[in-house]
Amino acid sequence: MTVKVGIPNALLYYLYYPLWQAFFNEIGVQVVTSGKTTKDILNKGVREALADACVPVKLFFGHIMEIKDHVDYLYIPRVVCVNRKTVYCPKFLGLPDMIRHSVTGIPPIIDVRMDTRQGHFALLKAYLEIGKLLGASKISVFQAYQKANRVLGRYNNLLRNGWNPHEAMSLLSKPGAVLEKPPNLGLKFAVLGYPYNIYDSFISVNLLEKLRRLGVGVLTAENISPISLVLQKNCGLPKRLFWTFSDLALKAAHFLFKRGMVDGVLHLTAFGCGPDSLLNKFIEFEAKKHRNIPFMTLMIDEQTGEAGISTRLEAFVDMVKRRKEALACQK
Ligand code: SF4
Repeated sequence: MTVKVGIPNALLYYLYYPLWQAFFNEIGVQVVTSGKTTKDILNKGVREALADACVPVKLFFGHIMEIKDHVDYLYIPRVVCVNRKTVYCPKFLGLPDMIRHSVTGIPPIIDVRMDTRQGHFALLKAYLEIGKLLGASKISVFQAYQKANRVLGRYNNLLRNGWNPHEAMSLLSKPGAVLEKPPNLGLKFAVLGYPYNIYDSFISVNLLEKLRRLGVGVLTAENISPISLVLQKNCGLPKRLFWTFSDLALKAAHFLFKRGMVDGVLHLTAFGCGPDSLLNKFIEFEAKKHRNIPFMTLMIDEQTGEAGISTRLEAFVDMVKRRKEALACQK
């Protein structure tokens, strides 16, 4: 019988699922995902997770509850560092332990450590460890690892070309498929924050779709080339931000404000997020240096209501539109 590995549609799913799926499939393992976030998944997560955890971690718990009874293993790697410079937030590092000690009746967890500071081949070694656990030969793991990285390269290219993770995954799974690009309606906003908040349409209260319906094109950190982000160095700070996603979001803010590439900037922040309390301030400072580009912070939590977000968004879009028209008249 084929071994089944469960991957929750939460946290790093939005960045690495194509790689993980290709790797497991290549070594003959079936991947089971938990599907889109629903109210039921959120409720399960809120019930199981610690009360003071951030919303994305609560959601992760909910997704684990959704798949735990349908798989032989849960894949929860301990991803520490992938760029040899910044590390993921401590919640990522402790994720396998939190799940193991809080949720009952779970299958074994594959919790290999991924930390490129441990050497050039640290990631390959982690995948060899996974392969060994699942009974795959070293050669098949090596081939699967190479193929999975090629898939990840194609996925990242699609993101750089303006697609969001859902669209990019759909294009990868149906080569030759044609997706319609949203029409260019004149306004472009940057939506900054962590990918697992921005692209989870349930927890973001469908933010991207709402903007699209309001005629606003969206740019996120994932759509910007990594070289452009690296070139932002420490964004004028004495040293870079310690946490990977916070560092990326600040670099993206710095790049977009400086280039004036967008008409407005939204920062989507999660209630209960420690790194965000710092990041939001730094993005605000950046916004104050570029007063020609309006900026707004939107905070989400498990109680976030559709109406509240829609009203604030509509007002913000309206204000940016009027401002742009007024500036055009002055010219
Ligand atoms: S960065 Fe913030 S939102 Fe993300 S897992 Fe850590 S505490 Fe939660």
